[in-house]
Amino acid sequence: MKVPLLDLSEQNAKLRPEIEAALGRVLDTNAFILGGEVAELECELAGYCGTKYAIGCASGSDALLLAMMAFDIGPGDEVITTPYSFFATVSAITRLGATPVFVDIEPDTYNIDVAQIEAKITERTKAIQPVHLFGQCADMAALNAISEKHRIPLIEDAAQAIGAEENGIRAGNMSAVGCFSFYPSKNLGGMGDGGFMTANDDEIAEKLKALRVHGSKERYFHKWVGLNSRLDGFQGAVLRVKLPHLDEWSDKRKANADRYGELFSAAGISGEVTLPYERPNVRHIYNQYVVRVPEGRDELRAFLAEKGIGTDIYYPVPLHLQECFEFVGYKAGDLPEAERAARETLALPIYPELQPAQQEYVVAAFKEFLADRSASA
Ligand SMILES: *Cc1c(COP(=O)(O)O)cnc(C)c1O
Repeated sequence: MKVPLLDLSEQNAKLRPEIEAALGRVLDTNAFILGGEVAELECELAGYCGTKYAIGCASGSDALLLAMMAFDIGPGDEVITTPYSFFATVSAITRLGATPVFVDIEPDTYNIDVAQIEAKITERTKAIQPVHLFGQCADMAALNAISEKHRIPLIEDAAQAIGAEENGIRAGNMSAVGCFSFYPSKNLGGMGDGGFMTANDDEIAEKLKALRVHGSKERYFHKWVGLNSRLDGFQGAVLRVKLPHLDEWSDKRKANADRYGELFSAAGISGEVTLPYERPNVRHIYNQYVVRVPEGRDELRAFLAEKGIGTDIYYPVPLHLQECFEFVGYKAGDLPEAERAARETLALPIYPELQPAQQEYVVAAFKEFLADRSASA
């Protein structure tokens, strides 16, 4: 049996006639940059997230950069964030000449440990940027309390969390700006790069819209120095075909996560593998299903690969220890939970079309590996 980490072929095959028709509409109108399909998608995304605005851009990485630019973040400014995320979370800060201030993560959710944030706030703190890692929201109620008390805006890195909720409120609607990605492996993936930002404030939304087109509201008149960061018409058309299916896909991921839970507990190996923890009052959309293996993660991963099971490590090097961020001045041991997670976590296949028999095969392989190991110990 083969169990790839992600397989989009079934999803795309089912939608192929609709996708081809949608791409044809773009060809017919020549609306290749932004255009009608993107404008319609933006309305639909705002409705989906519950926000006043949704603004398409060229990638999730750019969404983060544009959000930082909307708050004029630059040299001398600090942004508080997590060291355990995708690279772009922090490159958005350093690209603008600002300084990332890292706060360690909670060992159970892998999200920023909100209890440690206030000690890191200074008069230079310009934003707090939590990441909803793997599809589960950071503690946004507590983050909003800090944001209001200190009058520091929140920017959500919701790239992995479209449709995730806390207390019934969707990701992107719990901060000043929400940042999303349409990278193909996200729950709502395009057929190329793409992203969007959400906002409720009129002025911020207007600025974000200008910043994505070189900082101009009126063509050839530039109020700010922005980026060329537009969503293209083909992506807009494809994503409009996919969006109506998103909740069903995310619910299937959640059902697969629950099935793993049952299978792992029936296998009796819960002591050696820690399963994902779901906070109360959240909707976890399981962009990734990540387990913790305190002993022998890399050997287990190689064993699973031999059995045809795809896995990945998100992320093997925490951001404060990346070579390019050496200048920020952190060293090994500074953020112990992020460093431990980097050594112990393993992402398993969780995509919506994954079959129960494939999940049984994955858990059986775990059991075999752990039994062999205890026999040889
Ligand atoms: C995917 C991702 C991004 C970047 O999105 P791109 O569209 O690939 O640029 C940023 N942050 C996180 C947490 C992500 O998972």
